[in-house]
Order: sequence, then structure tokens, then C-alpha cells
Amino acid sequence: FDLRNEDLKDLQELGQGNGGSVKKVEHIPTGKIMAKKIVLIDAKPAVRKQILRELQIMHDCNSKYIISFWGAFIADPNICMCIELMDKGSLDGIYKKIGPIEIDVVGMVALAVLEGLTYLYDVHRIIHRDIKPSNILFNSQGEIKICDFGVSGELINSIADTFVGTSTYMSPERIQGAQYTVKSDVWSLGVSLIELALGRFPFSESVSDDSDLSDLEGTLSPARPGSMNSLASLGLPPSRKRTSATAKKDKRKSKGVSLQGGGMTMSILELLQHIVNEPAPRLTPEGRFPKQAENFVDSCLLKDPDQRKTPKDLLNDEWIIYAKTSPIDLEVWASTF
Ligand code: ATP
Ligand code: MG
Repeated sequence: FDLRNEDLKDLQELGQGNGGSVKKVEHIPTGKIMAKKIVLIDAKPAVRKQILRELQIMHDCNSKYIISFWGAFIADPNICMCIELMDKGSLDGIYKKIGPIEIDVVGMVALAVLEGLTYLYDVHRIIHRDIKPSNILFNSQGEIKICDFGVSGELINSIADTFVGTSTYMSPERIQGAQYTVKSDVWSLGVSLIELALGRFPFSESVSDDSDLSDLEGTLSPARPGSMNSLASLGLPPSRKRTSATAKKDKRKSKGVSLQGGGMTMSILELLQHIVNEPAPRLTPEGRFPKQAENFVDSCLLKDPDQRKTPKDLLNDEWIIYAKTSPIDLEVWASTF
């Protein structure tokens, strides 16, 4: 059905990201409750129309591991997407509220994400490109679904042109400028699973309730003059480098990274360098988690993409097969917070 902004009543703010905000809304004509995502796009009207056309593919994405799509429209200057409301929110919000997530539930998250990624790729040839806890959603029926995948090439371009994301779930090969493949998503899944199991972002040593950029400072050595050079040595693709022209356009919250000055900027470059040069993070300390969980995470975080398995292959992993028969009832688990 045709969605119009006038028919939507804002009920509650659900969250904010780098690219916009998400609100709980009611579609007045039908009484349906949905999540409305407003994407700030600095693009010409023709490009916005193209994005809207490309987003229509989401109507054909039907899987219980993928968020349902109700429609999209342009509300100048923004693009709005109406998607299924997941009443327990995203997994980053959940662990920040209840602490580290028990490992058997983390296994069920891994299973759901692999199923979702396999569906997107096998049926639609879509690579997600942004797997992280904030894009894995949960509801009180105990369902786990992924959202914010790269359906629209134009949208990916527009976002890449206007801001540099946090990028910290990015695989070593992506940081070095290689093409995205389904295996890059597997790396991001590995990082995300460690984050859920430990209750903190794995590249940081300290525990913090705001786990992303704020605590990287403590982990990495302080900014050094000259470390800007590392951008070139990392081989970041040109579209990721920000010019002063695009910097001016960036009115997003400070979590966004600016390449102009500031210690935070250097930290991000150093983090990217760390991902490329240092051993991958692991589920630690050894022995705290089941061996199968450790092995699975290690296989997601193989630094050489040729050695890393695809989501489809990983569905046959021992730990994932175990998760399929898990006695845990996620609907009951959902009722505990
Ligand atoms: P980034 O912009 O870096 O990708 P993000 O994923 O947190 O970060 P958004 O995609 O804008 O940013 O989402 C903001 C927040 O809104 C999410 O963290 C999530 O908690 C919440 N959210 C998003 N979609 C839904 C949904 N369908 N149902 C419920 N909550 C949602
Ligand atoms: Mg998101």
C-alpha cells in the first residue's frame, strides 16, 4: 500500500545513528505500528528517485531472518523507510542494558545472521555490508532479524560520498580497499559475536557503557603527528577519504569521524591499521567459553578472506548445528528484560 508521511504519527524515538534517526510511528489509516527510518541524503532529486526505486527490492525480501519492509518515500530532503518494528530493539542496546549475553544465545544470534545473509545472497545476490550489533534486531516473540543491508547501490554511494562511518566492524581486506564479498560480512559477524559475549567492543581493553569510539582512545596509542600517512598506507579507497567540501556537509552527531584534526581521528586510523596488522580478536579468556564457540569465532575472523568460509558454509559449523537444536526458548529469554 501507499505510504505517505502525512499518514504517520510519531510515537517515540527509537534511536539515532550516523545516517539518520529511527522513530516508532503509527500508520493512522490502518492502525499499524511501524519503525520509520529517516535517512539524511545529500543527493539530487534524480538520485533520490533512483534510490527509492532500488529500495523496492526490499518488498521481495521475505525471510524470517530479515526485517519486513512496508515501503519508502521521499520527504524532502530525506528518504524515509518504513520497516517492521522490533520491540526489543537492537542487540547493542540489549547488552548495554543487561550485560554480556549468554553464549548459547549468542550462538542463536550467529545462526539467525548466517541464515539471513545466506538468504540475501542466494536469492537476491545482496551482500549486507553493515553487520554489527545495532543492525541485528530482536522482538518479544524471540525472533532475531537483520536490517540495514546494502540493497541500493545509489544509497551506498550517496552515504559514502557524504560521510565516513565508524567502520570498525570492517574486515582487513575491505580496509585495504578490496571488493566487498559475503566473506567481509562474516568478519563483521565475528567481531559482533565477541562484542555480545564480552559485553564490550572487542578492540577495546576497558569496559564502557558507550562501547564504540569513545573507548578506542584508551586502547590505542595517542595520536602522533604524521599518522595521517597511514590512510594512504592502508590503501583506503578514494571515496572513503573525506575532502573539506564533504566535511562541511556532515552535520551528523560527533560519533561520525572527521579526518580534519582531533585525536579521535588518529585513533580511528590507528584502529584500522590495528585490524590490518595485528592478530584478530578472539573470545577470551581461553576456557571461559565452549571450545566450539571459540572455534567458530576464530573461523569468522581469519584474516585471509580466501581461508574464511561463506555464510552458507558456516551453517554447517558444529556450534551452529548445536544452536539449531538449542533448548533455549528466546521468547522466554526476551521476557526477562
Ligand atoms: P549506524 O548509523 O552507524 O549504522 P545504527 O544502526 O545504530 O548506527 P540506525 O540504523 O539509524 O543507526 O538505527 C538507530 C537505532 O534505532 C538502532 O540502534 C536500533 O536500536 C533502533 N532501530 C532501528 N531499526 C529498528 C526497528 N525496525 N525496530 C526497532 N528499533 C530499531
Ligand atoms: Mg542501523
